[in-house]
Amino acid sequence: MISLGLACAAAVLLPVIWSVSRSDPLPPPRPPTLPDTELDWRCERGHVFLAAGQVGRRLCSMCDQLASPMTYYACPVQTHGPFRVEVEFTPDDDLGTRVARLRLIGRQWFSVEEGVRCPQCDRLLIYEPSKSLRMRLVQPQDTGD
Ligand SMILES: [Zn+2]
Ligand SMILES: [Zn+2]
Repeated sequence: MISLGLACAAAVLLPVIWSVSRSDPLPPPRPPTLPDTELDWRCERGHVFLAAGQVGRRLCSMCDQLASPMTYYACPVQTHGPFRVEVEFTPDDDLGTRVARLRLIGRQWFSVEEGVRCPQCDRLLIYEPSKSLRMRLVQPQDTGD
């Protein structure tokens, strides 16, 4: 247990130490691309596993079903959700990839522009990054109201 914790801490700290100890200027940060990013994936049988992002679905690591990237969305009414939302990526000339469509598990797909609605009150759901540890990708524009 202890050694696992230390290994994790080292993995987090090492890049920081490296960047602090270097004297020459660092190259400008490159935004993470989809394959750089570990996502939660969920298969049709409900297995959830971690894997690199990609456009299109991938096979579940535990069974032979197809899996989609999964993240969490919250309702403005805080007692509703959070809800698991499946994500579909599409290639994008400027960004590399972007989110194209979203759906609540087992429901119909909606474009990012439409968004997904709360199954309890029909309000537009909001991307909830705190619930989604590894998802650091371009998200739908904040509608800001
Ligand atoms: Zn599975
Ligand atoms: Zn709601």
